[in-house]
Order: sequence, then C-alpha cells, then structure tokens
Amino acid sequence: MNYEPIIGLEVHVQLSTRTKIFCGCPTSFGAEPNSNVCPVCLGLPGALPVLNRHAVDLALEAALALNSKINARSIFARKNYFYPDLPKGYQISQYDLPLAEHGFIEIGAKRIGITRVHMEDDAGKSIHDGFKDSDRYSYIDLNRCGTPLIEIVSDPDMRSSEEAYAYLTELKQVLQYVNVSTCDMEKGHLRCDANVSVRPKGQEKFGTKAEVKNLNSFRFLKMALDYEIERQIKLIDSGGRVIQETRLFNVDTGETVGMRSKEHAHDYRYFPEPDLAPLCVGEAWLNRVRKRMPELPAARRTRFVESYGLREYDAEVLTLTRAAGDYFEKVASVSGDARATANWVMGDLAGLLKQEGKEIGDSPVSAEHLGELVKLIAQSKISGKLAKEIFPKMFSTGEAPETIMRREGLAQISDEGALGEIIDEVIAANPKQVEQYRSGKAVVLGFLVGQVMKASRGQADPAAVNRVLKEKL
Ligand SMILES: [Zn+2]
Repeated sequence: MNYEPIIGLEVHVQLSTRTKIFCGCPTSFGAEPNSNVCPVCLGLPGALPVLNRHAVDLALEAALALNSKINARSIFARKNYFYPDLPKGYQISQYDLPLAEHGFIEIGAKRIGITRVHMEDDAGKSIHDGFKDSDRYSYIDLNRCGTPLIEIVSDPDMRSSEEAYAYLTELKQVLQYVNVSTCDMEKGHLRCDANVSVRPKGQEKFGTKAEVKNLNSFRFLKMALDYEIERQIKLIDSGGRVIQETRLFNVDTGETVGMRSKEHAHDYRYFPEPDLAPLCVGEAWLNRVRKRMPELPAARRTRFVESYGLREYDAEVLTLTRAAGDYFEKVASVSGDARATANWVMGDLAGLLKQEGKEIGDSPVSAEHLGELVKLIAQSKISGKLAKEIFPKMFSTGEAPETIMRREGLAQISDEGALGEIIDEVIAANPKQVEQYRSGKAVVLGFLVGQVMKASRGQADPAAVNRVLKEKL
C-alpha cells in the first residue's frame, strides 16, 4: 500500500534576553554551574515571578515575523510535573490562551500553518556521568532554569522529511533575521520535536502519531523522520498498530526508541498561574514592536530583484542571513554597481571566507573597502584582473584597495607616455601581426591589446591602450 507521512514540528527557541523571564539572573551560557540562580528561579517558597518585558517584546517580534495573530490577552499557566532539574515542580507556560495563533511560513510555493506561539520558562539541566553502577552520578545545573523560551507549534502540514527540513530552515532564518534568538542548536537555543504519523494515500483521517524527541540538528531531524516513517509503514504492513508514545532518537544507531507512553494535557494538571496577571498587549505596545521590525527575508528578496536588478538566485543567496544582506547593500551603495557587487560578495569574498571558516559578519574586508574596489573597476581605474590580485591582499591585511595599490605600485597606467613605451615594444616584437592589421585584418588588434595588457601586468587601462595602439598602428 502507498502511505503518506503527516508531520508537525514543535520548536523551542531561546529568546536573546540578558536576564531570565521571571527574575533578574543572567542568561549567559557557560557560567559556573548553579551560579546564575536566585530564590525565584530556584522556586523557593514565597518567591514571586515578575515578567521580563523585553522577553515579551522578542516573543511578539517572533510571532509577527511568523505572520501570527497576536492575542490581546494571554494567560500564563502552570504545567505540573516532577523532575530533578525543575525545582518549582511546574513549568510556567501558556495553555489555552497563548500569546499568538494562526500564523504561517512559506517554503517555496507551500504554506505551512503555525498553530500557536507561546511563552514559557526553561528547566535546568541534568548531566549524567559514569558508566559503572558504583561510579555513576547525576549532576544538576540550575543555571538554565527560568531562561525565556517561545514554543512554536506547526500545523500537521508537512508531508515529507524534506518539507520538515525546509520548514525548520526557513523558521530559523526568519528568527535570526528579526534577531530574537541566535538559534544556535549546539547551545540548545533551538530544539525540535516532531509529531509523525502515516496514513494510506487518499485516506482523510490521520493515523496514530508518535512524538520524536532529541532532534538537535537539521541532519538528525531528517534522519529521525525517515527512520520513523519507515518504521510505522513496516509496522502497519505487517499487521501491527502504531501506539501513541514519545520516542527518543538515538544518534549512534540512527533509530528511534520508545521512551514512554505519550502524556496527555490532563496529565499536567494545567491551571492559570496565580502569581502572574494576564498578559495584555494593547495596540500601542504592538505598534511600537511593529515599528522596530526589520524587513523580512521574503520581502528583501523581492526588493533585491526589483530595485538592484539582481537575478532571483543571487537575491536568494544574499538574503540567506541578515548579515549577508546588510553587507551586500553597504558594498553596493559605495560601488554604485549592484550586479558586480553581488558577484564579488558571492564569489571571491564567499570563497575566502569559506576557506578561513569565517562568517560574513567577521569579514576582514570591510563593506566600504570592497565597495571602493568594485567602484575602481566600474570607473575603469583598474582592470578586473588587477582587482583579483588586490582582493586577497585586502583580505589578509584588512587594508583599503588604494593603500595596497600605492604601496605595491599597482596603479593603473593610463599615462600616454608610459603606455606609449610599452606599446612601442609590443609593436616591435610582433611584426607579423602588425603587418596583418595594416593589411586590413582588424581582429588582430585584440591580440595586440592582450600583449600590451600582459606586458603591463594588467595595469594598463584597456580603453587607453586601444586608443593609443590604433594611433600608433
Ligand atoms: Zn533567578
């Protein structure tokens, strides 16, 4: 039988605030264990949470960037469960009235719905160490307790692991663009769980779903989904039934393993958090956030094509990150030649950055300097060939193109006296071609120009060479 997978993703994203969501403790990563804690995030009796306004601002920006409808009034709720790294005994989350709902993002021509975006606090971390029973310890680090998160729940709209991969890619790009999170998966700033089920093609009713946890890289997400889809199909084909459960992806074996039966909402005994007032986001607040929002990737792509005349592909590459788009625009404004700028940023610059393992934000060549280089070519003050020689020097020294040209005597030769000498030598050295040109074979001129450019080590101004050479011939 032919089956169709149904996939929905739940993504937790750490908001880039300096302090935690309900107290003033720092959120800095890598601090001494249990040093960034206070009575509030330790859940000590009598301690009261105070909502971090900046965390709400960032959550609102994320929700708007995901085309969601903001609820003017949302409610924090206690999600009760016991775990050693959750000292309060409950997580503060949002349940039946989340911050935002009914959003979407687009992957190519397909729209993936976003059910909800809600705010919550993170738990601490358990670190398990040792292998033998006599030598086995678990350590608790509560620094992460109370770190602000948003959970973004998608509709079950994805039909393949590729679509899930594309969705997560686009989601990460949008969140990084609006700067609400670093989305650094290695630091756990973006975590992903997947709900997966399969159904016979053509059937309307969804099959029973399993939730797969621990998908902490894009590659693992795809591997786990492919494995899980295959597992469910085999199970059904052999007469078995998929049970609703939580499964863990094992990165060593590439398999998903049943962990526990799936908990239901009623297991958590949700109830409104009595220590926090409802969160009311009025029009004035929302408008302030709207005004601060940057241009989103999709809009920027369109603008790059329409106002800079870039090709679709170039516009897409240059808007992959906000830093790349910003860099490109700065270079283009200095150079005055957007298409040449795009070629330099995506070609020579990207090549050297990749070689050195650097991001565009840390480029040793400033946008101003690259802009000057492209402008020098556009004004034919240097040849493209010479520019290609200068550029790696700009990359290794961080210097302006003109500084390098001055030091190395690389300025373009357009002075007729100096050019004349080189041209005289070329004419003397190529009597046969000179003869051919004089007897009417005009194409030979290109060869002679090439010889002059070579003799000048690419420093001659091609337009001046053409003119002077013709006169002399
Ligand atoms: Zn604290």
